[in-house]
Amino acid sequence: MPVINNFEVNVRNSAELVEFLHSVRLPENYVLVSLDVVSLFTNVPNMPKDNLIELVKMCFDTSYFTFQNDYYIQLDGSAMGNPASPSLANLMMNHVLRKVRFKALHMNDNGVNKIKTQGNRFRFPFVKGLSHGTSSSFRFTDWRPAFYNIRTIGDIYSKLKDITPLGQASELVYKIPCSCGKSYVGQTRQYLSKRLHQHRYSCEEKFRSKEDRTALANHHFLTGHNFDFDGVKIVDREGNWFKRNISEMVHICLSDTVNWRTNTDRLSKVYIGLIEKYEGNRNSA
Ligand SMILES: [Zn+2]
Repeated sequence: MPVINNFEVNVRNSAELVEFLHSVRLPENYVLVSLDVVSLFTNVPNMPKDNLIELVKMCFDTSYFTFQNDYYIQLDGSAMGNPASPSLANLMMNHVLRKVRFKALHMNDNGVNKIKTQGNRFRFPFVKGLSHGTSSSFRFTDWRPAFYNIRTIGDIYSKLKDITPLGQASELVYKIPCSCGKSYVGQTRQYLSKRLHQHRYSCEEKFRSKEDRTALANHHFLTGHNFDFDGVKIVDREGNWFKRNISEMVHICLSDTVNWRTNTDRLSKVYIGLIEKYEGNRNSA
């Protein structure tokens, strides 16, 4: 994960800036200011080696994981799930493999050891009843398939990982059901619990006459229906802001929602046609 993702003051792209500016209301007597750094790269000082090592050490010493709602720090080796661990493991394996050389030896007719040419290898999923034929069809070429199992250890053991509590999940598309059977679909970068709190708050009586309210609050005030915030469902997880917006629009189209019609304006007509077709198939199934 790029380190910049963890910075508090960071805008990924102009689209995200626009999203942010839409959600901000400038207090009175405040003005927007734009600043520019001149020759940024040439003004960043070289980092001394000791500082760099200190920072890398910090990455590995401060990572933690949760198990049954308790927080733990891994003491041995590099931490599982730490984004820096795969890089460190790769560096380590590269170092080891440079010392160990694998050679496939076989004896030829004269009893002399000779390195067997393996041909070019490529990976291929192992499918019972199919892989043998696949292998034979490459017999007269320089290519040799190397079969791998589609099921991985991860498939069997991934359930060991604790599930993030719903409220602590972020960067997702969610759906909140209403008492009338319709629902509200939204997307957020922040914790779901925080977003739900904002929605709950926006339904408080004092906001009845608020003008730029969300479709959720609007539906609540116009109909008197109540949303079941505890019945919220995560319908998609997506870290990329642009893709998350597409996903949100698709889910608005897929469900019977209270969202504004304009919420799906930016969805290409091509998708709408496909979604309607998909919905038709789903409903007739
Ligand atoms: Zn309703």
